[in-house]
Amino acid sequence: MTAYEELAGLTADEHCVDDPGYEACSECGSPTTGDLCRRCGLLAAIGLI
Ligand SMILES: [Zn+2]
Repeated sequence: MTAYEELAGLTADEHCVDDPGYEACSECGSPTTGDLCRRCGLLAAIGLI
């Protein structure tokens, strides 16, 4: 499994969430509970953004 596939798998359920309590990711606009969604948080953690 490639790193990209791992990231895609981690974010697969992120876009199914339709909770009005969620906010938009500041990087990609995906619903998230924080400033960054899980995917962008990971990318930031490894220095890609
Ligand atoms: Zn994002």
